[in-house]
Amino acid sequence: MAARKIIHLDLDAFYCAVEELRDPTLRGKAFAVGGKPDERGVVASCSYAARQFGVHSAMPMAKAIRLCRDLVLVPPHRQAYMEASHQVMEILRSVTPLVEQISIDEAFLDVGSLNEEIGEIAKNLQARIHRETRLPCSLGAAVNKLTAKIANDVGKAAQRGTTPPRAITIVPPGSESKFLAPLAVQMLWGVGPKTAERLRSKGVYTIGQVAELPEKELIKEFGRNGYELAQRARGLDDRPVSTEHEIKSISQETTFQKDVRDEEILYQTIRDLVKQVVGRLCEHEFIAGTIRLKIRWSDFTTLSRQFTLAQPTDQESVLVKVAETLFSQVWKRGSAVRLLGVGASNLKQGARQLSLWDTPNEREQKSARAMEQLYERFGALVIQRGHKPEKK
Ligand SMILES: [Mg+2]
Repeated sequence: MAARKIIHLDLDAFYCAVEELRDPTLRGKAFAVGGKPDERGVVASCSYAARQFGVHSAMPMAKAIRLCRDLVLVPPHRQAYMEASHQVMEILRSVTPLVEQISIDEAFLDVGSLNEEIGEIAKNLQARIHRETRLPCSLGAAVNKLTAKIANDVGKAAQRGTTPPRAITIVPPGSESKFLAPLAVQMLWGVGPKTAERLRSKGVYTIGQVAELPEKELIKEFGRNGYELAQRARGLDDRPVSTEHEIKSISQETTFQKDVRDEEILYQTIRDLVKQVVGRLCEHEFIAGTIRLKIRWSDFTTLSRQFTLAQPTDQESVLVKVAETLFSQVWKRGSAVRLLGVGASNLKQGARQLSLWDTPNEREQKSARAMEQLYERFGALVIQRGHKPEKK
């Protein structure tokens, strides 16, 4: 069998790159996109100039400012990121339908059907994305997803400077294990701090050292993960690039700047979150069978509740009702909420069928059935349609 041709693409400091297009005076400056420091904001993305000061994403904004006094703070413009991401993904899909988007700025492509050499394909893709969107990106290319992703991580890290790396890193077929051998074990997927620590205690630091351990020993130590570990350390990975139909869930959450106890605000937030989830369901033509609500209280404890519908749907009114009902089950009037999230899972393709092929009457019936099911399960807790939550 011919070697596969897999590319991992990652946009360089994506949010920052989009912000620089919105405001070119930011170019070259140390800046960070994220929330305000006095509102528990964290760094969502930071420019390469900011990284020189040790600023990195997920760091509290207050700390970022301590590290880099002149750091320019830029509030996020999510709509612009979504649009830019969409534009890039469309370019990728024009190259091959085998595109697996793994985050807003990352994707795998299987370019096996193209005749050019993989390095050529990567170079052309990078140039085209820059030409059409002005966004910088880095690419890793190899025979499988594991190696392509790690190649990209390594290539980007090697080009640390004040400008985007725009790296292209190619691992030729057959040299996977040689390429991986000197790297730290943590670079392998599935190796978290705990596994890394257990390996270190055995004197194992590099991927190459893992590859030398007998598979049996790894299985004894790590169970089923041990088998995976043995495979990956040898650069073996036969997972396919799976297209969008395999998205498992869609969710949206929001952390309040200050804990919220106000009933109106909480319910409004749930409705907004559902609206966003529904927007994304429609984008992918999905209907959802299960709705999940996530709440984090002010003491950081987190709870989630879910409900599975007899009839999957993309109808906002139904999903709002479910989410509100789940919320009313667990929220006691006056309790402070730090975070709310709404997720949809159990996804099926078919939004178009529901919205286009159903007669209004059929849609009404399906929605009524969902309501009935809610009443059966939660009885009086179900919030009346079109009414604000009842004040007790
Ligand atoms: Mg990126």
